[in-house]
Amino acid sequence: MLIPARMSEAEERRWVSVMLDKLAAQESKRMPGDTELAERAERLSAQYFGGRARPTSVRWVTNQNTRWGSCTPAEGSIRLSHRLQGMPEYVVDYVLVHELAHLLVPGHGPRFWRLLEAYPRTERARGYLEGVVAAARLPHSPADRGE
Ligand SMILES: [Zn+2]
Repeated sequence: MLIPARMSEAEERRWVSVMLDKLAAQESKRMPGDTELAERAERLSAQYFGGRARPTSVRWVTNQNTRWGSCTPAEGSIRLSHRLQGMPEYVVDYVLVHELAHLLVPGHGPRFWRLLEAYPRTERARGYLEGVVAAARLPHSPADRGE
């Protein structure tokens, strides 16, 4: 890090903390696995939508606790909750396919679900995610025991 000459110690500390905040902000935008995730989205788009869904960015986020994935069609950006990490691949693929489909069809109308029929494990993945949500609501879930 280059520190401008002739800074007082207090200024220097302030400047360093500002720079560290900036770095942390950049860091939080790119997480490990983002590149792989973007490549995976590209493959899935090619496989199920003939490459028509073209996101501008696909990344993991840690601030999404009520949704598995989200997208901003105007920007073409897709975000996946880090809570999906460690779940079976077909589940992560489903969430990616779901968000990719939103780049083509907003909302969850019949046209949207027809698009999703292209992905053979849609029903199974939705069942898995429903199970995860239900399990989290059960009393004496592993989380309660601090595991
Ligand atoms: Zn949706």
